[in-house]
Amino acid sequence: MGGFFGIASQKDCLADVFFGTDYHSHLGTRRGGMAAYDERIGLQRKIHNIENAPFRTKFENVFREMKGSSAIGCISDTDPQPLLVRSRLGNYAICTIGVIRNADALIADCLDREGGYFDAMTGGRVNSTQLFSALMSQRTDFADGIRFAQEQIEGTASVLILKDDGSLIAARDKVGRLPVRIGKSEEGYAVSFESFAYQKLGFEDERELGPGEIVHITPEGITQLVSPGKKKRICSFLWSYYGYPTSTYEGVNVEAMRYRNGESMAEQDEKNGFADHIDYVGGVPDSGTPHAIGYANKSRLPFARAFVKYTPTWSRSFMPQDQRDRDRIAKMKQIPVHELIQGKDLLFVDDSIVRGTQLKETVDFLYENGAKSVHMRSACPPILFGCKYLNFSRATSDMELIARRVILELEGEEGFSHLEEYSDGTTDRGRNLRRAIADKFHFATLDFQSLDGVVKAIGLPPCELCTYCWNGKE
Ligand code: SF4
Repeated sequence: MGGFFGIASQKDCLADVFFGTDYHSHLGTRRGGMAAYDERIGLQRKIHNIENAPFRTKFENVFREMKGSSAIGCISDTDPQPLLVRSRLGNYAICTIGVIRNADALIADCLDREGGYFDAMTGGRVNSTQLFSALMSQRTDFADGIRFAQEQIEGTASVLILKDDGSLIAARDKVGRLPVRIGKSEEGYAVSFESFAYQKLGFEDERELGPGEIVHITPEGITQLVSPGKKKRICSFLWSYYGYPTSTYEGVNVEAMRYRNGESMAEQDEKNGFADHIDYVGGVPDSGTPHAIGYANKSRLPFARAFVKYTPTWSRSFMPQDQRDRDRIAKMKQIPVHELIQGKDLLFVDDSIVRGTQLKETVDFLYENGAKSVHMRSACPPILFGCKYLNFSRATSDMELIARRVILELEGEEGFSHLEEYSDGTTDRGRNLRRAIADKFHFATLDFQSLDGVVKAIGLPPCELCTYCWNGKE
């Protein structure tokens, strides 16, 4: 994953782009970068590794090193960027977000062309943004080049380009899987993944780009280069999990969606006659918490934080690549509030259950600290398909998904022909899946939000949402 932010302004905008990019730090943990255009110097660029220190710390000297009235920045979980490119389209800085699943085939095709080459990174890998630029350069203007690259790519690619005249080109991915928003101030325009990032810097909402839309932006105005396509499939997980709570996509605020989602889970439990005595409702921090607030408000059960994450010295950006180290850090962060756990019946809401490894540790930790019972609710349906559009979950195969693994245990591969039933908690297979996962993880009870429930909580037409990881529908 990753996010980008840029400004085209009449005044120096480096500080604003620094803060605006920093506000995307929840979207990636590996590389941060900024590029700026100043008419006396041209394009400049800085990239830092942000695995062990946050973007803000790594770029604190950027004001002394770069200046400009137009700049872009990005946070990336994959490749270093923005890249500075000189091609037949001109000089520009470019960053992309998304994933290119057919990268090997596209690279081979580019290399087959006369004179084709790429800078190789460690292990011979090619930077995805460089691949995007190489595809784009096969056409004679930016709009045509971006459209061509997006058509060739299997996956998702949104793009932000800073040209060497100080203007920006922004393009949302073909089907609008990820958001691209534009803000406006008296001095110019901002482009952002997260809407709150520019609002906090004094920009007002101008508009959201439609799927596949491409625009050219100067401090004076926006020109549409390519109009939006009809097919839209925005990622539902933006609301369920990784979008920032203060952001709004397609007119729907993230935090408010999570409250509605929690409320409907409480209604579902009431309808199903869930009658266990519960002392406290809590969220698995952080993204489970707003769903739990909605659940508690609706059910009138008290909300409490039975454990709190210790974050002052464990910044989110400290994210080792090794899974065992990540699990250990997750464990070290969890600090119990004994008075709220000892002898209590607790109901927790988590944003989702993907592999379940960390959740099992959390539940064991609650029992070790004296919980009488731990009930679990997932704020979305069982995840049955790995994300092929954004490489969103770290799972490398569908068989890493806990729901798939348990289905295999229950009835072998035959079970994969009945995924719809397993997803539905009102069928025998659905009940068996919930019971088997609950037994494995020592949950007193387990339920998942229904697909219908998530879609209603978002409130957009189902045909505009990507729900592939829950129902496998493209
Ligand atoms: S498959 Fe899931 S995570 Fe991936 S884009 Fe679709 S809804 Fe989002």
